[in-house]
Amino acid sequence: LKPNYDVVIIGSGGAGLTAAIQAYELGLNPVILEKMPKIGGNTTRASSGMNAAETNVQLHHHIVDSFGDFYGETLKGGGGMNNQALLKFFTEHSALAIDWLADHGIKLDDLTITGGMSVMRTHRPSSMAPIGGFLVTELLKQVAAAQLPLFTDVKVDELIVEAGKISGVKATTPDGAVTITAGAVLLATGGFGANKALLGQYRDDLKNYQTTNQPGATGDGILLAQAVGAKLVDMDQVQVHPTVQQDTDHAYLIGEAVRGEGAILVNNQGARFVNELDTRKNVTAAIDQLGGTGAYLIFDRGIRDRVKAVEFYDHIGLVKTGADLETLATETGLDAATLKQTVADWNQAVANHNDAAFNRTTGMDRDIAAGPFYSIHIAPAVHYTMGGIAINPATQVLNQDERPIAGLFAAGEVVGGLHGNNRIGGNSIAETVIFGRQAGQQMFKYLQ
Ligand code: ADP
Repeated sequence: LKPNYDVVIIGSGGAGLTAAIQAYELGLNPVILEKMPKIGGNTTRASSGMNAAETNVQLHHHIVDSFGDFYGETLKGGGGMNNQALLKFFTEHSALAIDWLADHGIKLDDLTITGGMSVMRTHRPSSMAPIGGFLVTELLKQVAAAQLPLFTDVKVDELIVEAGKISGVKATTPDGAVTITAGAVLLATGGFGANKALLGQYRDDLKNYQTTNQPGATGDGILLAQAVGAKLVDMDQVQVHPTVQQDTDHAYLIGEAVRGEGAILVNNQGARFVNELDTRKNVTAAIDQLGGTGAYLIFDRGIRDRVKAVEFYDHIGLVKTGADLETLATETGLDAATLKQTVADWNQAVANHNDAAFNRTTGMDRDIAAGPFYSIHIAPAVHYTMGGIAINPATQVLNQDERPIAGLFAAGEVVGGLHGNNRIGGNSIAETVIFGRQAGQQMFKYLQ
């Protein structure tokens, strides 16, 4: 670690790594500081892909898309609350970001779709590997090729302000405290889903929730920025995922596919209590009303065979199995008579195409009849923090008067506003690459 760099980049997720490569390619000398022993942040946990419109990849798949549709659908998904200037920049630079990755040998040639999008615009590797690990691995190859300095176990504690400008950071390293001076600093520190105190401050109802986030997602960048006068936005907008297995020390998000293919949710007696395919928000509220016990996904072999991921959940011990429903009830700790009646009633509802009890209308193509039977214990967990630091489309951090704080930039989940009150799947990875590139470019411009 040297005492001076052109730019200090705090955080080694998608935003930080992209910004470092872009800054380096413009001739700057960046350093990346990561507080955790592991590189990649929450980015490594992203699974779906990277949203972008008007790409050559889409045309190759005969999909004609538009920035306008991407904009409109993201705005609708975000409850109309999205920062429109950021959203405009985001959508209109999405195709360029896909091209930039491809220019660096990072090809996202396959397409899928996520909730709230009308066309296939979620780009992923043709291997269909989860996007997060793939992207971090590939970006790290670029970082290594350029010999960019990247230090783990270095935590930034403070931003230094001199004559109204950010001029460096104070950090803790395994060898003690250091001061690093720099012309510009980028906050790419991710969200605060793993900081219970900060969550509780803005969302008292969530303070006891587990999280799908990595333990370093503690909102440090938000607090660092706030200490130098930055404005925060949408801090109470937190995405909760209703079905997360959290009985081990790692919380696993159980994808909507299990319910979509026909699983039901039951309480700790074995009775249904909600339309399983209602919105994430409503399913979460119903599970919370059970009083902290969580709920159980119940499904059979037919459903299991249609959801590849269940094999993985089973492999790591998250799935309970019973040759018949009695055995499953005993294994899971549910009341056997209640569970049998619940499944019989559900199968009748499927046969009648009418769920009189909870008005479910989707994912009702399959009954729960072919043993063995399975259960997964789930509860809601914090998944993504939409709020954070206010920036302009040039990634400059804004003060309370919405004027840039000289020398301070932010990109990625640490930023608030882009996603409104609900982030669409595939937009978080896109955000890190699009605004990571922009931050690298704008820091270069600022330092000229
Ligand atoms: P994004 O998707 O926005 O890039 P990630 O969560 O993937 O965000 O990455 C953010 C990274 O920043 C994480 O690896 C996290 O551990 C790191 N980080 C957070 N706070 C600090 C800090 N104070 N000093 C250094 N690194 C930090």
